[in-house]
Amino acid sequence: MIKVVFLGPPGAGKGTQAKIIAQKYNIPLIILGDILREAVKNQTQLGKIAKEYMDKGELVPDEIVSGIIKEALIKVNAKEKGFILDGFPRTLNQAKVFEKMLEELNINLDKVLFLDVPDEELIKRMLARGREDDTEDIIRNRLKVYYEKTAPVINYYEEKGLLIKVNGVGNIEEVTSRIKKALDL
Ligand code: AMP
Repeated sequence: MIKVVFLGPPGAGKGTQAKIIAQKYNIPLIILGDILREAVKNQTQLGKIAKEYMDKGELVPDEIVSGIIKEALIKVNAKEKGFILDGFPRTLNQAKVFEKMLEELNINLDKVLFLDVPDEELIKRMLARGREDDTEDIIRNRLKVYYEKTAPVINYYEEKGLLIKVNGVGNIEEVTSRIKKALDL
């Protein structure tokens, strides 16, 4: 049973890979972006707030997303069943809140998997994906936000000795097999 965070720039294929691995090994999967998009689709109160940020490629406030993650970890019984978490933490503050949260829930994080993909490739992939927030302007802003706010999270986990880096360039199967190896699956 594994407890792992998938980290990486937008468009790196984290969600795709997280889904494949979670299904293959029957690991509970938490994809924050999907939870937020579902809330937007259902026009819940959370969805209405989140949409304002997502439409601009900005981050939804830390308190809101932290609450969602805590709920999700409890709901999937992450302590007993493990988890793959994609899309969180995305700021240093979120990483610190997450650490406290795991402590409270008595959960140990095994690894943080960083999926490495260069910018040009990311932009190409996101434009091809054509999600509602995948227009060129929003993509550029998401990348800017990523470098400003999320990149420090990588160092944070590197210093803790939890980070494993995986090359995210290649076809889906190639990347999946690199991830399996990196996670000893
Ligand atoms: P994603 O599907 O992971 O690219 O996320 C889509 C959008 O959801 C992002 O551009 C943010 O607006 C929002 N979002 C996802 N994860 C987070 C997070 N950890 N903190 C704040 N906002 C987030």
